[in-house]
Amino acid sequence: RLDALGGSIGAIIGAVALGTKDSAFIPAGWVGLALSYSIEVTGYLKHGVRMIAQVEAEMNSVERILYYSNNIEAEAALETKDDPKPSEWPTKGEIKIQNMSMRYRDGPLVLKGISVSFRGGEKIGVVGRTGSGKSSLMTALFRISEMEPDGGKIWIDGRDISQIGLSVLRLNLSIIPQDPVMFSNTVRYNLDPFGEKSEYELWEALKKVQLAETIAVLPDGLDEQVAEGGENFSQGQRQLLCIARSLLRKPKILVMDEATASIDNTTDAAIQRMIRENFASATILTIAHRLNTIMDSDRVLVLDDGRVAEFDSPSALINRGGIFASMVEKSKKAHNA
Ligand code: ATP
Ligand code: MG
Repeated sequence: RLDALGGSIGAIIGAVALGTKDSAFIPAGWVGLALSYSIEVTGYLKHGVRMIAQVEAEMNSVERILYYSNNIEAEAALETKDDPKPSEWPTKGEIKIQNMSMRYRDGPLVLKGISVSFRGGEKIGVVGRTGSGKSSLMTALFRISEMEPDGGKIWIDGRDISQIGLSVLRLNLSIIPQDPVMFSNTVRYNLDPFGEKSEYELWEALKKVQLAETIAVLPDGLDEQVAEGGENFSQGQRQLLCIARSLLRKPKILVMDEATASIDNTTDAAIQRMIRENFASATILTIAHRLNTIMDSDRVLVLDDGRVAEFDSPSALINRGGIFASMVEKSKKAHNA
């Protein structure tokens, strides 16, 4: 269409020049000028259209920001005036959950009145069928999802977490999520987003998760770019990087959601040992996919359809014979087979 338009402008000018040539109504120089411009005009038109299309495409981002800023409710305050100081809270890592119920938006209840307490420094294993609410219980700790208004309370070291500023709360907990989160930035930024650690500390953490060699051979080392979503690292490597990130933060409470699901058995065993050593005083909640990773935990919490089914030490649960005992039995059979 643009070519046709340009062509017809040229044709009209030619026709007018021809039609008026006897009266010399338009000077010959002007006609020449008009003709040469009319040939170029197609190019300009095309350029203009391309620019308009590009503006429209880039305005998508603006549109999206407007959509999000108008339609998504803001989270609770990041800081409140009576937030505890970092040195005062949490000191022990004690968690008390009382009558916790939770639903996602207007869906059904996924946690149905959970009441448990974990002592400071205790190593807890969490198991349960797929969809039993293990990950949801952990997001409740971080106050990530909207909860029921009267959905129970969680205390950490005696403080009701719903009264604490979100940033203070989340800085003190660490999670290694089911699908590891990587930022599109350098490896260094992924390990230490706030730029607080020294080069030495970063390498120490990488050594502990057995990634030092992998990172050292990258062309840019710690400054290697991580692709969007961490595409240039394997799933297992991403999980290890997340573990290294938590190692650097030294939280009092560590949540691992199937954190080692994509790591081979040997590395997994080494990582579990390393976590025990480095987080000796922290409360660790491990959501397990391999029962052997939680067999040596202090207590095991078995969730079933959003409720607490069993909660005791692994040996007591096996002796009593219940969901956990049958899971152990099944995995033994699978192992033997
Ligand atoms: P898995 O072992 O597969 O990780 P899980 O025990 O961690 O399972 P959850 O992720 O806590 O299970 O899910 C519990 C229930 O909550 C499921 O029935 C699921 O449908 C629902 N659910 C989980 N995440 C969301 C979400 N973002 N929005 C709506 N419903 C959700
Ligand atoms: Mg889960």
